[in-house]
Formats: sequence, structure tokens, C-alpha cells
Amino acid sequence: MRTNPIVGSGTSLQAWNTSHHLAAVETTSCAELVPPGARAVIISPHPDDEILGCGGLLQLLAREQRQILLISVTDGNASHPGSRYWTPRRLSITRPQESAAALKRLGLPLNEMKWVHGGFPDTGVTNHEAKLQDFLLTYLHHDDVVFTTWRDDGHSDHEAVGRASVAAAHQVGARVHEIPVWAWHWASPEDPRIPWQRARKLPLDQWTQARKRHAVQAFASQIHPDPVFGHAPVLAPEALERLLRAFEVVFV
Ligand SMILES: [Zn+2]
Repeated sequence: MRTNPIVGSGTSLQAWNTSHHLAAVETTSCAELVPPGARAVIISPHPDDEILGCGGLLQLLAREQRQILLISVTDGNASHPGSRYWTPRRLSITRPQESAAALKRLGLPLNEMKWVHGGFPDTGVTNHEAKLQDFLLTYLHHDDVVFTTWRDDGHSDHEAVGRASVAAAHQVGARVHEIPVWAWHWASPEDPRIPWQRARKLPLDQWTQARKRHAVQAFASQIHPDPVFGHAPVLAPEALERLLRAFEVVFV
């Protein structure tokens, strides 16, 4: 078990751009990931992971008229421990609103899309993993394609959500793919801990990329310093740059 791998500014985009492993990753397509007739289920630990991890994929799915179910596991109310401004109460209202604004900026048909809020405790999902798996089982069908955070992503909620989603998907016989989010921060460019063989790149055209970039700006609570304490933003500019590349990576 790694001890808090999410400190400092992490591995830079420039460093990732030199990665031979990343350069050699095969590409995939939206149609290959989610065949016609299948529903895509995006399981997001915190309000923003669905955009940071797969804001491009979401747009492509909408364009291909796939049904989408988004499950937000927590309301993200523990992102600013001790802050007098970003109190858990304020965050629990603001962060889901930021997600809604971001999804709108992606141009998704929000009235046709199903969105479920799990209400699990932010930073405490590990303690409710079995309950989360049961919760997910009430929504998943065998012909769904599930996207979740990677089981080894380096954040306890991301890992617990990854494990519970994979277990629930296997139980109903659904396909499941994992998406690295924080791994881009702590991993090194040729890191042997990354399952490179399972990695696939989903290329994003410049418009898809631009809408994702615009959507990310909706997460004001995460991208700006704390207005009272002046603490650094949760999502530093370096973190955003890494996640706003011309492709997204999925572990198949
Ligand atoms: Zn997260």
C-alpha cells in the first residue's frame, strides 16, 4: 500500500510526453468500447472524476447516441478539510452543481441522461465497499459497459470505487473498463505498476478537447485557491494539463 502518493505537483505533462510506454499504447474508438445497443455506465467517485477521466468519451458517446448512466458515488464534500469557506455543507451543494454545469458544457443531452447520486461518504468509501457493490448491482445490466476509476489509482475512494464496480460488473456479466486519474500524478513515465498491456488510447479531436477544457473550468471549488486560507487548489494547473491531452486512457 502506497502512503499518500498524491503530494506535490506530480509527474509533468512534459515527462509523460517522453514516455515510450505511453507512446506505444494502441488506440481504440468509442464504437469499439461501447458497441451499438449497449449502455455506458460511468461510475465516478467524486464530482469531477467523470469529466477529468472521461469527459471526451462522454461527448463521443452522446454523439453516437449511446444511452448513458452516470453514478456519482460521493458528493465530494471532503475536498477541503478544515476550510472555513469550503465547509462540507457548502461543498455537498456546490460540487454536484459544478458537475452539472460541466456536463452541460460538454453538450450532453442532460434530460435524456440518467444521473444517480450515491450519497456515500467522501474519503470513506473503503468502509462501505460491500454496500456500494450492492448499490451498483441494483443499476447494472449484463449488456452494460461500465467505466470506473482504476483499482490502483492511488486515492482510497478511487480504488474502492474501482474494486466495487469491477466486482458488481463481473457479478452481472457486464464489461468493465478502468480509468486512471491520479496515476498520471504519482506514476513515472515508464512505470512498471501501470498495466500498459491493458491500456488503450481514445483519441479526441480538437473540438472534443476544447469542450473538455471548458467543462473543467466549471469546477471552481477545485481549480482555485481556498478564498479564506489561500491554500493551493485541489487541482493544480499541472494536474489539469496532464488530464487535458489529445487522448484519454482506458484499461480494458
Ligand atoms: Zn476523485
